[in-house]
Amino acid sequence: MQAAAAVHRPHLLAPSPLRGRTRRPSTVRMALREDGPSVAIVGATGAVGQEFLRVIAARDFPYRSLRLLASERSAGKRIAFEDREYTVEDLAAPGVFEGIDIALFSAGGGVSRTHARTAVASGAVVVDNSSAFRMDPEVPLVIPEVNPEAMANVRLGKGAIVANPNCSTIICLMAVTPLHRQAKVLRMVVSTYQAASGAGAAAMEELKLQTQEVLAGKAPTCNIFSQQYAFNIFSHNAPILENGYNEEEMKLVKETRKIWNDKDVRVTATCIRVPTMRAHGESVNLQFEKPLDEDTAREILRAAPGLTISDDRASNRFPTPLEVSDKDEVSVGRIRQDLSQEDNRGLDIFVCGDQIRKGAALNAVQIAEMLLK
Ligand code: NAP
Repeated sequence: MQAAAAVHRPHLLAPSPLRGRTRRPSTVRMALREDGPSVAIVGATGAVGQEFLRVIAARDFPYRSLRLLASERSAGKRIAFEDREYTVEDLAAPGVFEGIDIALFSAGGGVSRTHARTAVASGAVVVDNSSAFRMDPEVPLVIPEVNPEAMANVRLGKGAIVANPNCSTIICLMAVTPLHRQAKVLRMVVSTYQAASGAGAAAMEELKLQTQEVLAGKAPTCNIFSQQYAFNIFSHNAPILENGYNEEEMKLVKETRKIWNDKDVRVTATCIRVPTMRAHGESVNLQFEKPLDEDTAREILRAAPGLTISDDRASNRFPTPLEVSDKDEVSVGRIRQDLSQEDNRGLDIFVCGDQIRKGAALNAVQIAEMLLK
């Protein structure tokens, strides 16, 4: 199993005129199929782009052809994937979306705003990881386990945009939606503990570098974040809005309402960066319309797709970012009645999820899989 995983791992290679000329595919992948869609990955060199490739390989997502796109900085780089080598192409080059059925975008909101409509005009379905279209009423905002019905009108071959929610929203709603369906959430208070990966590959590198620097007694390099990240926590680096919330917090508020199609649900959030690498933690306090006791809640969560329960009070073991890293499932624990609320109308839970995996790449590939059904 380990050897197979190593074969599927995408590797960025330095540009070399010799690479790729002599290599031949040594095995034929089931995923490379004539009847599969032709796929483009926009932002293929980034943290999420590289994760797209891992998820495509892990799930045997079928594709007829694969096109890897990034900025002109990375154009010409080679990426080895599933026994082939691909050359990264410049997104700005003309005609890059011709013949593309599905375009997985993860290169930031500005890039999506500039290029997603071009892909749609070529007939592609764009699954967009940025916030550019999430609140557009014409664009479905989808977590496949939560609101697959939102994609009812999206068809392969008919250009469209589908938005991937923010990573914190996906991880939170994976756990809370099954409880919401049972008892209806009236109010939700979310406090996040967010990993470096949410700010991209360069932020992960900066956290590693800072950790080494601080341990060596040096001043930490602060290029991505404006303050020391290693051995520290700080309010999420998203811009602060006029209402005092930051953009990350307001995404949890607005996206929850759209995904649940419930404009009245009350949501408040405080988003914090912690020096973990790739998985977020979220403490969630819930107030329900109907009573829901913790044992029933635990059973509901145990039966829900995409979740694991880690709730061992005897040994004080609950979800951790490390345990969910590189995993598809979101982990839920600390499931307990909120004693401040009457008649079992409140619960507290703690949730951890790999935000590059389920919080970004996996969710997008699941959306793409829905298009093939
Ligand atoms: P990243 O590691 O910094 O990677 C950014 C990617 O975008 C790189 O492939 C980069 O290509 C490409 N890119 C940047 N500017 C471009 C341009 N003008 N034209 C074409 N390609 C361009 O960031 P990331 O973590 O993968 O996140 C990328 C985006 O995904 C974020 O901005 C956000 O909108 C969204 N997102 C991220 C996460 C997450 O977990 N990190 C979660 C949800 C959504 P070069 O190699 O050429 O620079």
